[in-house]
Amino acid sequence: MEVWKEFEANQLTHSAAHYLVAVHDLIGEQGYARAADVAKKLGIARSSASMGLHALIEKNYLKEDTNKFLQMTPDGKRVAEEIIGKKVVLKRFFQDILKVKPYQAEVDTCKIEHLISSETGANLLAFIRFMSSADPQVKKVLEKFWQLSETCPGLKDCPVCETTCLKELMPAKLRVVS
Ligand SMILES: [Zn+2]
Ligand SMILES: [Zn+2]
Repeated sequence: MEVWKEFEANQLTHSAAHYLVAVHDLIGEQGYARAADVAKKLGIARSSASMGLHALIEKNYLKEDTNKFLQMTPDGKRVAEEIIGKKVVLKRFFQDILKVKPYQAEVDTCKIEHLISSETGANLLAFIRFMSSADPQVKKVLEKFWQLSETCPGLKDCPVCETTCLKELMPAKLRVVS
């Protein structure tokens, strides 16, 4: 199967990811979560929350007891925690390393937090840890990075562009922060 099709078949939808994390957070904050609590927390209609939560129950990420209190299954807990971890890592990467504006970092994180693999998340975490270290050599590299010219030296000399100049495909200006 082509990658993009395979991935549509397996992934949680964006809203399902937010519902699952909301249940996880509510249980952590107040010890319980019902559909009404999720609706309130996410600012959505009670009926949408119920529908989304039922899909998660069917996937065996959540359970509902006879009093309509939701519980995380071990699978649900694992998936929710992974999303939470990736969310923090991505936000740090965009905001602290790439210096993307906080609001944009938040938006871009929200769009992909539930989509990247654990492997990518773990490698990104290691990269951020390295780039955030107090090692003077790392600091020097970062300084150099922010002095970088954003002009592509041409396909022959560019270490990144292969057959197309990527800078032409993505003409947004580099946001230089010192
Ligand atoms: Zn999101
Ligand atoms: Zn280039």
